[in-house]
Amino acid sequence: MRITGLMVQYYKSCTTELWYLAHGIIPQQEDENLRIGRFIEEQYKKREKTRNVIVDDSVSIDLLNSLGEVVEIKKSKKMNEPKLYQLYYYLLKLKRKGINLQARMVIPIERKTIRVSLTPEIERELEKIEKEIVQIIKEKKPIEPIRKPYCKKCSYYELCWSD
Ligand code: SF4
Repeated sequence: MRITGLMVQYYKSCTTELWYLAHGIIPQQEDENLRIGRFIEEQYKKREKTRNVIVDDSVSIDLLNSLGEVVEIKKSKKMNEPKLYQLYYYLLKLKRKGINLQARMVIPIERKTIRVSLTPEIERELEKIEKEIVQIIKEKKPIEPIRKPYCKKCSYYELCWSD
């Protein structure tokens, strides 16, 4: 089973969402927020001349040529922790290949950069997370949803709370 950075991010934000993603239930990508996010990301990548690499056929990583760092571009700093774990996971994937890099999360519209590096504690936590993700994906039915403040903005809202 191939675990991706996005799965790690969803594990941290919502395991029901993780289950949907892993089972190929993908929301429509025409949401206004997603479009804005994609535009910001494309502009940044063009300006900074990032390079994309795929690790283990499953993890797509953008590299900042000028600094030799992994970079993740985000629209806002909301829901920071799950997004940071996505980046940590990229660093772990690279480390397992013998490549030790630093990373940065860039939020262009807020002119913010968050530096990210892997620590032994985070590494151990990610190993545990990988095992738990496998268990979640093996479930035959979606994980029972737990209501969160951001559910109303989630693309899976109707699937979780239609009744
Ligand atoms: S609507 Fe809420 S519970 Fe359902 S997948 Fe989205 S965030 Fe998770």
